[in-house]
Amino acid sequence: MINSKSIVVALAGNPNCGKTTVFNNLTGARQHVGNWPGKTVEKKEGRFSFGGREIQVVDLPGAYSLGAYSEDEIIARDFVLLEKPDIVVNVLDSTNLERNLYLSVQMMEMGARVVLALNMYDEVSAKQIKIDTAELSKRLDIPVIPTTACRKEGMKELVTAALNQSGSNNREPLKIDYGREVEAELSALAQTIKTIPGLADKFIPRWLAIKILEGDQNIWKVIGKYGQTGQLVAQRDASVKRLEDKLGEDMASLIAARRYQFISQVLTGIVVKPSSQKQSFSDKLDRILTHRLLGIPVFFLAMFAVFQLTFALGSPLADLVDQLFGWLGGVVSTGLTAISAPDFVTSLAVDGIIGGVGSVIVFLPNIILLFLALSLLEDSGYMARAAYVMDRFMHKLGLHGKSFMPLILGFGCNVPAIMATRTLGNRNDRLITILINPLMSCTARLPVYVLFAGAFFSANQGIIIFSLYLLGIILAIIMGMLFKKFLFKGESSHFVMELPPYRIPTLRSTLTNMWDRSYTFLRKMGTIILAVVVLVWVLSNLPFGVEYASQESILGRIGSFIAPVFAPAGFGFWEAGIALLFGILAKEVVVGTLGVVYGVEEAGLTAAIAGSWTALSAYSFMTMTLLYIPCIAAIAAIKRETNSWKWTSFAIGYSIILGWVVAVLIYQVGRLLGLG
Ligand code: GDP
Ligand code: MG
Repeated sequence: MINSKSIVVALAGNPNCGKTTVFNNLTGARQHVGNWPGKTVEKKEGRFSFGGREIQVVDLPGAYSLGAYSEDEIIARDFVLLEKPDIVVNVLDSTNLERNLYLSVQMMEMGARVVLALNMYDEVSAKQIKIDTAELSKRLDIPVIPTTACRKEGMKELVTAALNQSGSNNREPLKIDYGREVEAELSALAQTIKTIPGLADKFIPRWLAIKILEGDQNIWKVIGKYGQTGQLVAQRDASVKRLEDKLGEDMASLIAARRYQFISQVLTGIVVKPSSQKQSFSDKLDRILTHRLLGIPVFFLAMFAVFQLTFALGSPLADLVDQLFGWLGGVVSTGLTAISAPDFVTSLAVDGIIGGVGSVIVFLPNIILLFLALSLLEDSGYMARAAYVMDRFMHKLGLHGKSFMPLILGFGCNVPAIMATRTLGNRNDRLITILINPLMSCTARLPVYVLFAGAFFSANQGIIIFSLYLLGIILAIIMGMLFKKFLFKGESSHFVMELPPYRIPTLRSTLTNMWDRSYTFLRKMGTIILAVVVLVWVLSNLPFGVEYASQESILGRIGSFIAPVFAPAGFGFWEAGIALLFGILAKEVVVGTLGVVYGVEEAGLTAAIAGSWTALSAYSFMTMTLLYIPCIAAIAAIKRETNSWKWTSFAIGYSIILGWVVAVLIYQVGRLLGLG
C-alpha cells in the first residue's frame, strides 16, 4: 500500500494518548482497517492531502517503550525501524510528559524524524499547568506542537510541522549520556557493528549497541539478517559482565534510569505547575476510588450497578424484541402456509431459525447496555483505577496485578482477553492468566443467565446474575492461586502504573466501542449460531418420521446419553445435556438450542424451562454454563497464545471438572438446606 511518492507519517505514542483521535481527524473517512501481517493486532491506515502533498498515515499500536515487552511494542518498533516512515508523529499525553517522553527519546535515539504532538493540551490548560513548548522544542531540537485532538485543535500546525520536517536534512540521532563506563562499552560495540557489511547503513550503530546492552533479544533477529552475530554476542557478554561488576546494577534498569534522568533534565523549568497545590477533584476522587480498603468494595459496587442497569433498562427492551420475534414467527408461519410451503420449510424457519437465533437475539438490548456500561467505565479512567486497586490485592495472593486487565476484558469476550495477556512479560504469569480467563463470565453467557434468572428469580435478577459474575471472579482467583502454588512456582513482580486522568467519555468513542462489540455479537448470530441452530433442528427431525425434538430423535438420543452425568447437579434431562454439548461451539447456543428444542411449545421458552428446572437446578445449570469449558473460539485462542496442546487440554479439562463439581455442590448443598 505504501506509495513512494506520498509521504508516510506514522502515529506513535503510549496507549490512550489520542493517536486514533488524531488519525481520525487527519484521514476522516479515508481509512483502511486491517491487521498487521501475521498478527492479530489491528492496523489502521489512511490518507489525505495537504498543501498539494499526498500523505499516508499509519496508526501504530500503543507502546510505552520500544523494548520487546509486548507484541504491540514490537509492531510499533519494527514499523519505525524497518519501514522507516518519513515522519513519526509522536502523540503525547501532555499531562504526563515525563512518562510519555520515554518513548519519544527512544525513537529519537533510533534516528527517527520525530514531531511531538503535545496532546490533551486542554487538560493542561484546565489544570493551569504551563508548558514552555518553544523551549522544549529547542532543547530536543524537534518540532513540538500543542494539540487537543478531541476538539481538532492544532491539527493544521501539526501537519505543517511534519511536512517541513520531512523535507529537512537527515538529522543526528539523539545522544543521551549514559555515563563514562557505559559509553566506552557502547563505542566498542558500535565499532564491531560497523564491521558488519550493510548494517550501519540501515541502522544507527550506537542505537543497536544500546539495544544489545539492554538485553533486547529481538534485536538479534535484525542483526542476524546481515551476518554472523557470534562475535557480537561474546563481546556483549563480556561488556555486560564488566559493567555489572563495576556498577553493580542490571543493565536494562541502568539504561532506563539514565533515560529518565535525561528526560527530567530536559523538563526542568519547562513544566510549571500552579503554586497553590490545591487538591483537585480528581485527587479527591482517587482518595476514595483507590483507597486501600474502600477500593475493592467500591469496585464491586460499580460492577453491581452495571448489572442492575443492564437489567433494569434491558429487560423491558428484551421483552419488546421477544414480542417482535413472536410476531415474526406468526407472520412467517402464516405466510408459508398461505403459499402452501412444505411443512418442514415452515418448521425450519419458525422452530429452527426464528426460535433458535431469535431466542438469543432477544438479549441484544442487555448485551448492548452491558457493553455501554463497560465502555463508560473504561473511557472515564475508572478501569485503570480498579486494576490499580486489584494489583495490591492480587499481589497478596501471589498473582500479578497486570493479570487483572485481561480478566476484566473477559467480561466482554474471552478471546481478546486471552490475547491481551501478551502485556504480561513473564510466561508463568501469562499462562496462569490465560488459564483462568475463561472463568470470567463473557457476554455469551449472559443470555443463559437472563433467561433462567427471568424464569426463576424475576424479583432479584440483578443480584443473581451479579453473583454468577462474582463466582467467576472468585474461582478465577482461587484457581490462579492453586496454579501458582502447584504448577508455576516463582515470584511475580508488581506492575508500575500511572493512573490516567479522569475523562468525561466522549459520546463518539463510547458509542463506537459499544457498537464494535455489539456488532461482533450480531455477526456471530448470522454465522456460527445460525449454523448450529440449523444443525440442531436437523438432528431434531432425524431419523425420518420421528416426532420433532422428541427424545427419540438423534438429538434426543445424544442428549439422553449425556444427561445422567448431570443428574447429581439437578438437570439430568436430555434437553439440558444437548444444550451444554452444543454450547461448546459458542455459549449463546445453549439458549439457541433450548429455543429450538422447546420452540414448539405454545407458552414459550421461559414457561418450558419453568416446567423442567427448579430454581435450584436453574442456578446450578447457570454455574455449569459459566464454568464448564471455554467455547471453541476461546480454546483456539488458548492454543494460539500458549502454543501448547498440553496447556490447552489442561484448560479444557480442569474447567469441565470444576464446572461439574461446583454445579453438583450447589445442587446438593441447596437440597440439604431445603432449597429445592
Ligand atoms: P489512542 O489509544 O492513543 O488511540 O487514544 P484515543 O484516540 O483512542 O483516545 C483516548 C481517549 O482520549 C478518547 O476518549 C479520546 O476522546 C480522548 N482524547 C483524545 N484527544 C484528547 C484531547 O486532546 N483532550 C482530551 N481531554 N481528551 C482527548
Ligand atoms: Mg488507538
